Formats: sequence, structure tokens, C-alpha cells
Amino acid sequence: MSTKRLVMVVEDEAGIRDMISTLLIANGYSVVTAENGHSAITLIASYNPDIILLDLGLPDMDGLEVLRTVRHWSAVPVIVVSARGQESEKVEALDAGAGDYIVKPFGTEELLARLRATLRYTERMVQGSMVSD
Ligand code: CA
Repeated sequence: MSTKRLVMVVEDEAGIRDMISTLLIANGYSVVTAENGHSAITLIASYNPDIILLDLGLPDMDGLEVLRTVRHWSAVPVIVVSARGQESEKVEALDAGAGDYIVKPFGTEELLARLRATLRYTERMVQGSMVSD
């Protein structure tokens, strides 16, 4: 791995945001954080992260709105990290373009494993499309 993967953490609760950021940095990722939906959309457009961890319960707008907005211009992989654990909520997020869904509270090893899995899958897709071009 030549360059660090950039992870955007969208989370309004400072404690969780700091915990995830510290975990990611300790595991070799670069991190950009956003504490609400509007700044998330702006930062995603300017930083072009490799992957996004997206909370759904944000103060200014629903995380699903952030996801649908970003999907207008970007195929960046998104993992929803939410306290909402209902099946219907997971289905809605996955249908809106999320690649995975993690329910809070989550284990840090699980979060890292899902992050790696989603990045691997995305890279295979990119390589596959380059081969067929
Ligand atoms: Ca929240």
C-alpha cells in the first residue's frame, strides 16, 4: 500500500467521532471528519475520500439524504454506522447506495474488518473495469 486510504467519518457525537478517528489513524488510515450533513457533502466533494463511514442521525439532515446527494456525483463506497437497527432501515440504506451497514454499538475489530472488506471489493471492481476497457 503506497498511499494511505482516506476515510471520511461523518458523526455528530464527538466521543464516537474521536474514538473512530483514533482507531483508524492507529490502523494506518488518514481521516477527515464532519459533524453534520452539510459539511459532510462539502468535504466529500473537496477531499474525494476512498470510503465514508456515515451516521444516520445527524443534527441538520438525515444521513440517508447525505448518501442520496453524494450518489448524484460519486460512487464512493459508504458504510452506514447507525444506532438504528431495524431491518427496514438497513434495507433503505442499502437501497440508497450504502455498501454495508453497522449497528451501534459495534466492535472495533468488526468495524475495521468491514472497512477492509468494502475497500477490497471496491478495488476489485475498479481493476475489473480497467481490464475490460
Ligand atoms: Ca448521530
